[in-house]
Amino acid sequence: MDTMKAFVKTEPGVGGEIREVPIPHPGPGEVLLKVRATSICGSDLHLYFWDEFAAQRVRTPLVIGHEVTGEVVELGPNVEGVHIGDVVSVETHIACGHCYQCRTGNAHICENLKILGFDVPGAFAEYVVVPAANVWKVSRDLPPEVATILEPFGNAVYATLVEDVTGKSVAVFGGGPIGLMSVAVAKASGASKVFLIEPSEMRRQLGKTMGADQVIHPFEQDPVASILEETEGRGVDVLLEMSGAEPALIQGLQALRSGGRVSLLGLFPGQVTIDLNELIILRGVTVYGITGRRMFETWYKVSELVESGRVDLRPLITHRLPLEDAARGMELLKNKEAVKVVLYPQVVPDTK
Ligand code: NAD
Ligand code: ZN
Repeated sequence: MDTMKAFVKTEPGVGGEIREVPIPHPGPGEVLLKVRATSICGSDLHLYFWDEFAAQRVRTPLVIGHEVTGEVVELGPNVEGVHIGDVVSVETHIACGHCYQCRTGNAHICENLKILGFDVPGAFAEYVVVPAANVWKVSRDLPPEVATILEPFGNAVYATLVEDVTGKSVAVFGGGPIGLMSVAVAKASGASKVFLIEPSEMRRQLGKTMGADQVIHPFEQDPVASILEETEGRGVDVLLEMSGAEPALIQGLQALRSGGRVSLLGLFPGQVTIDLNELIILRGVTVYGITGRRMFETWYKVSELVESGRVDLRPLITHRLPLEDAARGMELLKNKEAVKVVLYPQVVPDTK
């Protein structure tokens, strides 16, 4: 049997290891990708460091990883519209196609949703099987390190552009990978002024690189006062909550104008307490819960923004490592030394 190397979560508990495992074969409606690059998402840290969420959700052994780009090398039965040699990125949320949500154009909240690398074997490997319906063709010229991060970029695009931002002021709370991507999406889409609120110095600097007009340290400055001062005392038109931190949510809503719009993307570690009357209801705020990406409306926007060159995601890639160093990548992210870590199963390209 042909084997491949893969990063496997072998048992419950912290860690994971590189193992030789059988190369998977595509079933009906599925394709096999030869992985060109894969990248680590914050949610992979939950699996690697094995928190309560992971313990409840995941069954070991499992090849983890979901952000990926690859080349189609084998087609299962009944695959149409995808061809051997296609270079693709992947929508990692596998929708059933049959439930109420799928049938009403809301596959991103499918009732039977499965996620690559959580519920089915993932992409930290030389090969991965995905449903043909989940591949998104990209140009062969798009650097693999960019093609692999189109999935989190899709989160940023969906959250930022769920309503238009042209000529509007935007505050992004939380400059993790997705917040930083959102800064660039807002600027590329004509936002008048973009604020980034983020405690990490490295991430604030990256915020400037991605186009933020003003970066604010939330513990050293008062973000609400700073934003009100810059918006004629009214507050921003749009709030993007991308930190998952309760104080940021409250400050963000305080810095949002009456009648403004908030996209909630950050996931909070537990329940939050806010004054709904004062912060949302009596000020006529529109709230969007954002999960995943709209299939495939978001992906059209993703491709347009990246392939046109209007958004350059490369500054966010802080580390390029061989797949064998996946564990090191996890540590770098945990210690906030990295923003995006890209893993290569074959050769790590020389980017300099
Ligand atoms: P991340 O978790 O690294 O980003 C969070 C950032 O918020 C960090 O840089 C942190 O320094 C910053 N932060 C912490 N406290 C803050 C405060 N008080 N004010 C401002 N910033 C503060 O990484 P990410 O991958 O960009 O994810 C962002 C959030 O989105 C996370 O909560 C993640 O769980 C969530 N997420 C949601 C979806 C979805 O579909 N809804 C998908 C992916 C990730
Ligand atoms: Zn469904």
